Amino acid sequence: MSDIKRRDFIKGAVASVVTAGIFSAPNASAQVFCNADKIKWDETLDTVIIGSGFAGLTAACHSKLNGADPVIFEKRALVGGNSVLSTAWLNAAETTVQRDKFGIMDDSHELHYQDTMKGGDFKNDPAMVKKLTDEVTNSVEWLKSIGAPFPKVIFMGGAVKKRAHAVSNEYGGGLVKLLYNQTKELKIPLRKKTNVLDFVIVEDKDGIKEMQGLYVDQNGKKKYVRVKRAVIVATGGFGGSAEMVERYDPSLKGYATTNFTDASTGEAMVAAMDKGADTAGINYIQIHPTLSRTESGKGNILITEGLRGTGFILINNQCKRFVMDLDRRDVVSAAILQQPQKYAILIGSQETYEGKVADYIKLGLAFEANTLQELAQKVKLDPAALVEVISEYNGYVKAGKDPQFNRRDLTKPILTAPFYAIPVQPAIHHTMGGLRINTEGQVVDVHGNIIKRMYAAGEVTGGIHGTNRLGGNAVADCLTFGRLAAQRAAKEKA
Ligand SMILES: Cc1cc2nc3c(=O)[nH]c(=O)nc-3n(C[C@H](O)[C@H](O)[C@H](O)COP(=O)(O)OP(=O)(O)OC[C@H]3O[C@@H](n4cnc5c(N)ncnc54)[C@H](O)[C@@H]3O)c2cc1C
Repeated sequence: MSDIKRRDFIKGAVASVVTAGIFSAPNASAQVFCNADKIKWDETLDTVIIGSGFAGLTAACHSKLNGADPVIFEKRALVGGNSVLSTAWLNAAETTVQRDKFGIMDDSHELHYQDTMKGGDFKNDPAMVKKLTDEVTNSVEWLKSIGAPFPKVIFMGGAVKKRAHAVSNEYGGGLVKLLYNQTKELKIPLRKKTNVLDFVIVEDKDGIKEMQGLYVDQNGKKKYVRVKRAVIVATGGFGGSAEMVERYDPSLKGYATTNFTDASTGEAMVAAMDKGADTAGINYIQIHPTLSRTESGKGNILITEGLRGTGFILINNQCKRFVMDLDRRDVVSAAILQQPQKYAILIGSQETYEGKVADYIKLGLAFEANTLQELAQKVKLDPAALVEVISEYNGYVKAGKDPQFNRRDLTKPILTAPFYAIPVQPAIHHTMGGLRINTEGQVVDVHGNIIKRMYAAGEVTGGIHGTNRLGGNAVADCLTFGRLAAQRAAKEKA
C-alpha cells in the first residue's frame, strides 16, 4: 500500500477514536478501542514525566523551572532506574570546568561533534548530534549551578580530547541524588510503583496525532490520567530485556547485561510504536567490553571505562596486549571476543588507581597484590609473561610512543604497588535505537509528523549515537534532551 493510501486508510479507521492498548498488564494483550468521549478520566494533570532516571529527573526540573506543573511516574519502588548503575561520565566541550579547573583549552563543540559522528559510523542524525554537542555545555553549567562538584575530566574511548567530566564523587548514584534533591526542592511530586501501561493518543482527520493522556497501574489500581500540557517519555532503553535484544539483534542471544532487568525493559517504547511513533536505529545495540568476569559467573557488574581512561591496560590470558585500550567500545569488544576464552584482564597500579577499584575489590571482582608475580598467581597468569608485558608497556610510556597500538595518553606507567587485575568480558550495555525525536525532543510519527504534546528524552530515544555510543555521551544526551524537551513542552498550552 502506498504511503498516501495507507494514511487515508488509517484516517478512516481511527479518526475520532482513542486507542489504548494494554501492552504490559498481566493477562492482557488485546487492544482496547473506545470512543474518545467515552473515556472516564480518573484524574487530570498538567505534565507527566515517565521515568526517574537522569533524563526524567532532569526533564522534571526544567519543566517546573519553565512554568509547567510536572508529576513524575516511576514504575519501580526505587528512584533512579538504570542511571544509578551508571558511572556518570559526561562528555562536554568548551565548559568552564575543562577550561578553568583543568586547563583544557583546545577542545571544541566541533571536535565533540566529529568524534560522536565517527564513533557512530556516521549513521547518527547530524542535526541531533549538532544540538547535543552545542547544548551539552549548558547542561554542565546547569549541573554546576545546582552543586555538581566535577572532580575530574578524563579521556574516554573514541574521544580525541579529555572531555569526560566526572559529575560527582559518587558516580551515577551521586548524580541521581543531586537531581532528585533538586526535584524535591522544586516540590515536584514523584509517584513510585506507577507503571504507565499505555498512551491515549487521538488522530484528527488529517492524520495528525495528539497525546491526550495515559493508562496507568498505580499501586495495583488501573486508571486513566488526562494530561493537559504534555507527556515526556524518559523510560530508558531495553538492554535489560533479553527477548527484545534478541528480537532486534539475533546475534546477541545469550549475552549477559549491564542493565537492571526490571527497569530497562522497553515496553513504553513498544506502546509508543504501537500508536504510530517512529523509531531510529533500533537494531543498534552496544556491547560494553568490560563487564566483570567471576569464576562463579555471578554478581558481575560493569567495570568503568574510566579505568582505561586513567591508565589501566588490557591484556589477554597469554599476557599479550591485543587492542588500543581506548578504542571504541565495539572495536574493543570485538577484539576481546577474538581472544582465547573470549575474556581479558585489566591491569593497573598505584599510578593508574581510580576510586571505583576499592569497590571492585570489596565485591571480589578485582585483585590486589604487592608484586606483579603475586598478582599473576591470583588471576592465573604466567608471572614472567606479566612482568614482561608490563615492562614493555612502561618502556612505551617512557618513550611517549606505543609502537604496537598507538595508545593516546601515555602518561602513566604501571610501576608502583599495589598492582591490580580485573578479569572482564563483553556484555549488552546500551540500546542506541529508540523513539525518533526532533531537536526539541518532540516524538515523530511514522509519517514524519510530530505527535503533539508527546516528548521523549534519554535512552528511550534513537538516532543520536548511530551504530555505537561513545562512553560519556549517554549522560550528555539524557541531561541535554531532558532539558530541551521540558523547555519546549512547557510552551504547550495547558
Ligand atoms: C553500568 C552502567 C554504567 C554506565 N556508565 C555511563 C557513563 O559513565 N557515561 C554515560 O554517558 N553513560 C553511561 N551509561 C549509560 C547511561 O547511564 C544510561 O544511558 C542512562 O542512565 C539512561 O538514563 P535514562 O534516564 O534514559 O533511563 P533510566 O535511568 O533507565 O531510567 C528510566 C526509568 O524509567 C522507568 N520506567 C520504565 N518504563 C516505565 C513505565 N512504563 N512506567 C513508569 N516508569 C517506567 C524505569 O523503571 C527507570 O527508573 C551507563 C550504563 C550502565 C548500565
